[in-house]
Amino acid sequence: MVADLTPAASRFTPAACPRLVVKIGSALLVDPDGRVRRDWLRGVVADIAARHRAGQRIAVVSSGAIALGARRLALPKGGRASLEDAQAAAATGQIALSHCWAELLHAEGLTAAQILVTLDDLEDRRRYLNAASTLHRLLGLGVVPVINENDSVATAEIRFGDNDRLAARIGQAADAGGVILLSDIDGLYTANPHRDPTARLVPEVARIDARIRAMADADSASGMGSGGMISKLEAARIAQRSGAHLAIITGKRDHPLAAFDADHRGTVFLGEKIGTARKAWLAGRLTAKGRIEVDDGAVGALAQGRSLLAAGAVRVEGRFARGDVVDIVGPDGQVIARGLIEYDTVDAAKIVGRRSNAHEQILGYAPRSALVHRDHMVLL
Ligand code: GLU
Repeated sequence: MVADLTPAASRFTPAACPRLVVKIGSALLVDPDGRVRRDWLRGVVADIAARHRAGQRIAVVSSGAIALGARRLALPKGGRASLEDAQAAAATGQIALSHCWAELLHAEGLTAAQILVTLDDLEDRRRYLNAASTLHRLLGLGVVPVINENDSVATAEIRFGDNDRLAARIGQAADAGGVILLSDIDGLYTANPHRDPTARLVPEVARIDARIRAMADADSASGMGSGGMISKLEAARIAQRSGAHLAIITGKRDHPLAAFDADHRGTVFLGEKIGTARKAWLAGRLTAKGRIEVDDGAVGALAQGRSLLAAGAVRVEGRFARGDVVDIVGPDGQVIARGLIEYDTVDAAKIVGRRSNAHEQILGYAPRSALVHRDHMVLL
């Protein structure tokens, strides 16, 4: 995409971005002794209130439940020694965290609301739409939703695990034009800034390619942040695909949102324009029920915007029902597209590699026009 010359930070102003998601990491919210950094948080809430007065509606994604709860329960390793500890810490810390947000927002004349979500709540289309409508209603009422993963019921296999991707998904559900990740680093660097004196902060990224990914790998090697730069890049990709801009900025200063407005320091990933909201939801999903391997001919057809026909598929994997999400994988093993499959596993396997005119006889019923229709598919 052609980047225009608008300064990156101006994309997040109330005028340019009527709805914003702000994510705050545990390391910023909670000090090493396990106490909330109230003075700092008061500054963030003042920034939020100023934006709110200017007409922006803001949803907050707040980490910190596990870190806070671990201290109260005197659990080792910050509450992360076992899944049971993390669940107990989250349940205990979340109530303190909500209390703190409600109190600080109230002091600025704002009303807080709490939403706790699991990965499944956003991966299942019906539940996603339900969560989205709650968010829309709250934002419409001028309330500030404070969101976290429901860690006290999430198990290891069904977790977001990091609030970066959760924030990007919430941005999508809330129809936000921007997502700001307040972090303990000030953005993406060309190399590890601790080791390489020539490392530079990258102000703007239009496309996340192999070069950008390599920068994130270099950063994460230094062990910065809990989610790390890789999960932030994944969050950026989800946001970009839903048309939202995503900024990584430092939270290691007072009034970090106002400071970003003033000096524009940070990395901004520019949003793309893509098809429908349904396609954006599909592209941002983190899980799929199955995989369809396809041949080179199908890769070419998909790139031209065509549907995936059974004749171009080589193999199906997984257990899925009609309407489930599947990844479409090219001969090199790369996931090239994601879509809603028109058949269940058994029937899909029967017609793989077979031309359309044979389908009716194989299946015993009138076949659908494609294995995955282009209207229900998004290229990645
Ligand atoms: N949901 C976790 C918590 O509240 C934090 C996840 C993260 O580190 O991003 O403690």
